[in-house]
Amino acid sequence: MTPPATALRNYDAVELRRLDLAHHLPAQADYGEIRDLGGSRIITRAEGCKFWDVDGKSYLDGMAGLWCVGIGYGRKELAEVAYEQMLELPYYNSFFKTATAPAVRLAAKIASITGGELQHVFFNSSGSEAVDTMFRMVRHYWAVQGQPYKNIFIARRNGYHGSTVAGASLGGMSAMHAIGSLPIPGIEHVIQPYAFNEGFGEDEEAFAARCAQEVEDRILKVGPQNVAAFVGEPIQGAGGVIIPPKGYWQRIEAICRKYNVLLVADEVICGFGRTGQWFGHNTFGFTPDIITTAKQLSSGYAPISATIASRAIVEVLREKGGDFVHGYTYSGHPMCCAVAERNLEIIEREDLVTRTREVTGPYLANALQRLADHELVGQVRSKGLLGAVEIVSEPGTNHRFGGKEGKAGPIVRDACIANGLMVRGIRDSVVMCPPLTISTDEIDFMVDKIEKSLNQVLPKLRAL
Ligand SMILES: *Cc1c(COP(=O)(O)O)cnc(C)c1O
Repeated sequence: MTPPATALRNYDAVELRRLDLAHHLPAQADYGEIRDLGGSRIITRAEGCKFWDVDGKSYLDGMAGLWCVGIGYGRKELAEVAYEQMLELPYYNSFFKTATAPAVRLAAKIASITGGELQHVFFNSSGSEAVDTMFRMVRHYWAVQGQPYKNIFIARRNGYHGSTVAGASLGGMSAMHAIGSLPIPGIEHVIQPYAFNEGFGEDEEAFAARCAQEVEDRILKVGPQNVAAFVGEPIQGAGGVIIPPKGYWQRIEAICRKYNVLLVADEVICGFGRTGQWFGHNTFGFTPDIITTAKQLSSGYAPISATIASRAIVEVLREKGGDFVHGYTYSGHPMCCAVAERNLEIIEREDLVTRTREVTGPYLANALQRLADHELVGQVRSKGLLGAVEIVSEPGTNHRFGGKEGKAGPIVRDACIANGLMVRGIRDSVVMCPPLTISTDEIDFMVDKIEKSLNQVLPKLRAL
C-alpha cells in the first residue's frame, strides 16, 4: 500500500538524525546506544496498520504504536473532530467547579460502556497520571473515613503502572526502581501470575491458588487494617503479555472483599476491546472498584486517560472528602475528549470488540499455533489481540539462551523489525498487540515474519 499523497513530505533524514542526537532525548532508551547508532529510528507517516520511516521503509505495526492505536492510523474523522473542537474551544480547564461539554459527554459515554457501579470518571493526560490519580484517591478515601493508616498498596512484581514516581513504584520492575531510588514506601510487591516462569509445570488451578495465597499472606502480615488496595493489570502488558491462570482473579477478588481492600484493575492496555470484551475485567469475570484506562481510549490520536471509580467511592468523597485537591491543567482537555469520544464511536460502529473476540482473536491464536512446534519456541499464548511467543534454548523447557533471561528476545525482535514487522522483545518473548482493525491476511503476515526471523537468528542464538 502506498501512503496517501497528502501525507507525503520530503524530510531530510540526515538532518533529522543530527538534530535528534544534538537535542532530543527519546523515552525509555539508552542514550549511549542511540549515539552509537547515529540517532533514533524516525517515523514519518502511517495508514491502516502500517507505518513508514524516514528512509521510506514500511512496517506492519504489530504493536499498535505503543499498545494504543486500536482503530488504526489515518482516520480523517478524528482529525476533523479535533479541528472543529479547536476552533470552537481549544482549551478550558476543569478546575474549581468547571467543566466543558466534550469532557461531560465523554464521561457519560465511558460510564455507559463500563456499566455497573463504575460511573464516575476523572480525566488525565496519560496512563501514569491515571494511576497517580487512583493512588491519591484511594488513600484519601480511607483517610476521610478515619483510617489514614490504611494506605498500603499490594502490587505484583513485573507489573507495569507507568513512569511517574507513584506509577513506577507500584510497578514491579527492578530496572525502573533503580532509576530514582524507587519504590516509594507503602507498596508491597507479590508474585506475578506468570505460569511459564513462576509456575512452570505446575497445575493451573494450583498455581492460581498459590499466587492468591501469597496475596492473602501479605495482607495478614502487614495487617488488613493497613492495606488500602490491590492493584493489577488484568493481563500484564509491558511485563510480557502475561495471562493469569484460570481462577486467579476470582481468588484475588474474594480476598479483597474478605479483608475490605479495594480492588483496582489497571486497564490501560486491556481497556476498550483489546482482550475481546470492553475491559479485561469483563474477560476475566471480576468487578473492580476503580479502573485506570488510557491508550485505546483515544487510540493514541490525543493524549488522554481516565480514572473510573465506583459509585460507593464517590459517595464517600461527596459526604466526607472535602476538596479533592488534585488535578492536572489538561484534565478533561476538550480537544482530547472530543477525539476520544469519536474513537469510542468508531470502535462501536465497526464492532471491533466483537470482531476481536470472535474473528481476529481466535485467528491470531490459531496462527500462533503454527509456531508452537518450532525448536526455539517454548510457548505461544494470546487473548484477544494480545499475544506472546516465548523463546527457549531447549524445547519443552523454559531454559533461556546464554543461561539468562533477556538475551534472545532483543535479537529476535531486531530481526522482525529488519523484516518489516514492529513487535517488542520483552526479556525472552516476542510480544504483539496489533490494531483491532488488523486483517486476517495481516495476522498471517505477522506470524510468518516472526517465523522467518526465528529461523534467521537460530545460529546466532545457538552461539550465545
Ligand atoms: C502504558 C501503561 C501505563 C502508563 O501509561 P502512560 O500513558 O505511558 O503514562 C500504565 N499502566 C499500564 C498497564 C500501561 O500499560
